[in-house]
Amino acid sequence: MSSAQPVVSVARRGAERIRLGHLWIYRSDLDSVPDGIERGAIVSVTDTRGRRLGQALYSTESQIALRLLTRHEAPVDDAFWKARLAAAIELRSTLGHDGNARRLVHAEADLLPSLVVDQYADVLVVQTLSQGTDARRDLFVRLLVELVRPAGVLLRNDPRVRLLEGLERQVEVVHGEVPDRVVIRAGAIEREVDPRGGQKTGGFLDQQENHAAAARYARGRALDCFSYEGGFALAIAGRCDGVTAVDVSEDAIERLRGNAARNRIANVEAVAANAFDVLREYDRAGERFDTIVLDPPAFAKQRRAVPKAVAGYKEINLRALKLLAPGGHLVTCTCSAHVDEALFGEVVLSAALDAGVPVSVVEKRMQARDHPVLLGMPETYYLKCFILRRVE
Ligand code: SAH
Repeated sequence: MSSAQPVVSVARRGAERIRLGHLWIYRSDLDSVPDGIERGAIVSVTDTRGRRLGQALYSTESQIALRLLTRHEAPVDDAFWKARLAAAIELRSTLGHDGNARRLVHAEADLLPSLVVDQYADVLVVQTLSQGTDARRDLFVRLLVELVRPAGVLLRNDPRVRLLEGLERQVEVVHGEVPDRVVIRAGAIEREVDPRGGQKTGGFLDQQENHAAAARYARGRALDCFSYEGGFALAIAGRCDGVTAVDVSEDAIERLRGNAARNRIANVEAVAANAFDVLREYDRAGERFDTIVLDPPAFAKQRRAVPKAVAGYKEINLRALKLLAPGGHLVTCTCSAHVDEALFGEVVLSAALDAGVPVSVVEKRMQARDHPVLLGMPETYYLKCFILRRVE
């Protein structure tokens, strides 16, 4: 700790959260804050009795006032950051990942709060989502270039959460060159990714392992709802007679078709439509599928939206279960952090009961292992993926 480091004390509830493994302190749980702390400064955190809890990034704007970096006193200098980045990258090298796109840094779960780094072939896409990481973005880019030697680094700082930090939204190349389209490989499948304009940092890396898992069960006639650019559809096509992929975004469907052609996959039909309508229509027409994937966007981005989200999840799962042939598999996902595994299980059960369809759980999965979950911080377990089998 440098002598100039400001000291912020936190009320009992905040200290308790830190002791239970969480990294965030809300502004309402601060006890005293010295005047004039800079945006994104590293501060020393204590409880109200002056006992040290660690060092954290401070935000002058966000309701998340503190993000804990370390419970130790050693200085947070360039060497500290480099070691944290190197440790995050090292984890990924142990995962036996078959492809060249992956998440290298998953923010809080890598003890690098509010920093995201994704790798698409030789391009890195970086997000600095709080004042603390934004103030150090040049340092992170320099260290990442040293550690990974990418051809280009894109700062993809357009998520809305930056507004809560008083930061503007911007997308900018900060190192080398970043093409408009990067071709990535996942297993045997190649896909084009748009790092500037694609969803998230270009694609849904968090589903990559679930794409491969779905392929283990897929067969017959398949339906991929909320397909985006075809992560599931293309991964399962080789095992199926045919796949119908549905997404409301015309652009996503256009790219899906391009990706199918690139891989010489001819049995995927891509449809730009509302998946709710398509499911209802197929249900009315008495269609049957052996394999169905449901991967909707987060219906509950905020806690108060949970009841409505639950109704949405229930509807699509109910319809999908009615369309599922006996012995068929449903791969059903939610990426709403506010809909936890237990609640999602209740929703799926209630859909199965209403559909009169007995199902067994074959796998309970989560986001890919390069998006790890920090124990003690439930917000980091956001993606749930159940693989269900219709028993009869
Ligand atoms: N399954 C994809 C990721 C899906 S993300 C993968 O594994 O890569 C969610 C997708 O749902 C987005 O592409 C979005 O365009 C689409 N979407 C949102 N609302 C929809 C709706 N009502 N009907 C169909 N697609 C929808």
